Amino acid sequence: NDSNTFSHGDIDGLAQKHFSPCMKNIHDKLRHNSHLRHFGRLQYGIGLPYEESLTFWRKAFKNMSDDQFQKGGHPYNIRHSYGLEGKRQNYSPYSCLKIITSNSPGSGDHHGCPFKHFSSENLRPLITEMVCSSSSYSSSSNQVQGNVSEVMNLAKAGHFQVACTRLFEFTHQKNGVLSETIDTIEHPNQYFELSFRGLEN
Ligand code: SF4
Repeated sequence: NDSNTFSHGDIDGLAQKHFSPCMKNIHDKLRHNSHLRHFGRLQYGIGLPYEESLTFWRKAFKNMSDDQFQKGGHPYNIRHSYGLEGKRQNYSPYSCLKIITSNSPGSGDHHGCPFKHFSSENLRPLITEMVCSSSSYSSSSNQVQGNVSEVMNLAKAGHFQVACTRLFEFTHQKNGVLSETIDTIEHPNQYFELSFRGLEN
């Protein structure tokens, strides 16, 4: 299965199981608000074919009329990001480094890297939820707390991508064992692909 075969209806299930913390955060906020600001949309690089992407966004902004959706420039922006308008360049979603070092989110923004941009009060529940909801996890609550703390400490020390990698490992092991060693996470898509490959196949 490659990502080009996904449809807009698959995204909620995929987000729950396979999205990186940054993508999961954007997805949850999109579902909660039925809206997402510019940089959030740019960072939210779900690998859907163009037509599916258009349907996905039209449905996601469900409080907008078709007219508002058109006038807000959303169809144009989607075509643009697929290289069908403007410079005709296909914009690939941002790497971790770019997310971590550029465009810090302001209030009301949901892009960015949670390990870098979230306060501890917001980061801890996100990590805890991901650890607790990972289906392959069968640890005692002491272990859950220990693993969450390890990830929190890495983030606090400024090792954002290592924190993300550890979180991936903690949420994708079976009986305490990871099926393969992974390189440090460099891109949200890498997180997704590793997760999808590991759990679905
Ligand atoms: Fe996203 Fe990368 Fe941060 Fe992980 S390290 S949350 S993939 S930006």
